[in-house]
Amino acid sequence: MNKKRLYRISALILILCLCFLSWKYAFTPVYEILWKFKEAGKLLTVQTVQGLHSTSVKVLPGYISENQKMIDVLHYDLNIDLYPDQKTLKGAAGITMKLLDKNLKSIDLNFYDNMKISKILLNGAEKDFINEKTRLTIPLTNQESSGDSLLVKIIYEGKPLRAGLGALTFGEINSNSVVYNLNEPIYASTWFPCNDMPSDKALLDIYITNDSSKTSVSNGKLIEVTGNGKRKTYHWRTVYPISTYLICIYSADYMNFTDKYISEDKTDTMSIEYYVFPEHLEFAKKDFEEHPKMIKYFSGTFGEYPFLKEKYGVAEFLWQLGAMEHQTITGIGSNFLNGRKFFNDIYVHELSHHWWGDCVGPATWKDIWLNEGFATYCEALYAESKSGPAALQSTMRSKYNENFNGTLYDPGDNLFSYTVYDKGGWVLHMLRWETGDSAFFRILRNYFEKYKYSTASTEDFKNICEEISGKNLTKFFEQWIYKGDDQINLVYSWETEKEDNGFKVLLNLEQIQRDYPEYNFTIEAAFGFNGGEDIYMKFYLDSRSKDFEIKLDQKPIKLTLDPNNWLLAKIRDKKSIE
Ligand SMILES: [Zn+2]
Repeated sequence: MNKKRLYRISALILILCLCFLSWKYAFTPVYEILWKFKEAGKLLTVQTVQGLHSTSVKVLPGYISENQKMIDVLHYDLNIDLYPDQKTLKGAAGITMKLLDKNLKSIDLNFYDNMKISKILLNGAEKDFINEKTRLTIPLTNQESSGDSLLVKIIYEGKPLRAGLGALTFGEINSNSVVYNLNEPIYASTWFPCNDMPSDKALLDIYITNDSSKTSVSNGKLIEVTGNGKRKTYHWRTVYPISTYLICIYSADYMNFTDKYISEDKTDTMSIEYYVFPEHLEFAKKDFEEHPKMIKYFSGTFGEYPFLKEKYGVAEFLWQLGAMEHQTITGIGSNFLNGRKFFNDIYVHELSHHWWGDCVGPATWKDIWLNEGFATYCEALYAESKSGPAALQSTMRSKYNENFNGTLYDPGDNLFSYTVYDKGGWVLHMLRWETGDSAFFRILRNYFEKYKYSTASTEDFKNICEEISGKNLTKFFEQWIYKGDDQINLVYSWETEKEDNGFKVLLNLEQIQRDYPEYNFTIEAAFGFNGGEDIYMKFYLDSRSKDFEIKLDQKPIKLTLDPNNWLLAKIRDKKSIE
């Protein structure tokens, strides 16, 4: 089967799937359906060019050794020579590090052993090493470990393993080579040796060499392009620290265009850079138009765009299941451009990761909801900023799921599940309801300010929430993040009695979920009358079942619980389930 035909068939299958899912999720934006394929993993294995048949993502037990926690990488100097025809690369990685334990007997790094290491130098002297499975170990002498910092240089070559969501991929579009990668969570080490944990951020210089017809793009700022006619090298540098999973390569026949963003205080102008396939240039010019506005909104809401001295950018790649927030250069799947701004929510999501995920990173992969729940809620916040509270509510409704499985914290192998994304977004929405708008947005600003260019844990976030709101949120975090599974399942019943000069309403609220004994929450209720305005009241439920007595002047004829969609809850009239 030739590749064009394969592409057409893939597109047809995709359209059929979309028709089915558009029917199934009539009110869910189409992008989200595609997005969910990413999470479901099993449903769709479309990789238009190179067949990628697995999207299971696991953080291998033992991937990070105790030794690795004792090193602090300061700088990566990566030289990557790409040979797309052979699907191979030649690499030279210079890693400058500090040892946190001066008695360390060896350095451990992550590096897949299918790559062939030809030489390792430590401070210029050749060293022995062991490279087994995903670990590279370099023994140290006492003298070496007592120094202030070490420079390890690793020379290697080979064909990177396809793993996780793709790792480093040699793909093709219309017979033209496209090289790109998706490291998250633990696949950076398929193409360069590194201390592959999100908490060890470092600075980066990356030199990407490919055929001179290709444009090569990466994180940070472009420093220089050099070449010898046949081959061209692009040197990119970051001035802000970066986690290994966010380090990227895109190398293809890109067309490039730019826009600009003016900082909040009007003193800086930052370039926004787009790299797209020639056939999508006109689509991209329309689709990407709103980026300056989006950056402005998030800068005003959370604090200035954190990579102002570098850039924001978007590069088109061939991962067909979504997008990836590579620091300062988001990768967007080529099927998420159509010239009709259809996928704005994806662009918003990825941009917002530059605050949540890239700048404030997750302390460990157990805290992944701090990336994905936040970016998901940012879609709703941006919709609200453009179109008001109804847009906030409709976005949240589109993130609703009948069954959220597992806990938000430490989701195991389900790092990219509905729970992490959508329930994560809902938990922030409920935190906003719990703390009120003013405290909620102060929480986000303070959290960003305190942990920017670093990483934070769920507990760090909880501490900021409590400090700013003045509330004890132990129960909130327990029921929604650490222990609670799924959501509130609430039934209600109510009756009205005539009283002297008005009416008495007896309302019973009962939680019937099996997987968690008792959520504590405030719920709003709207009483409707035969004429006149609805009356809104709030009730606090702190037990499995509770009765409330309400006095009203008129006889209510209608009761709506949680009319403004603040709670992740299934709410039903008791009569409807009897
Ligand atoms: Zn995301």
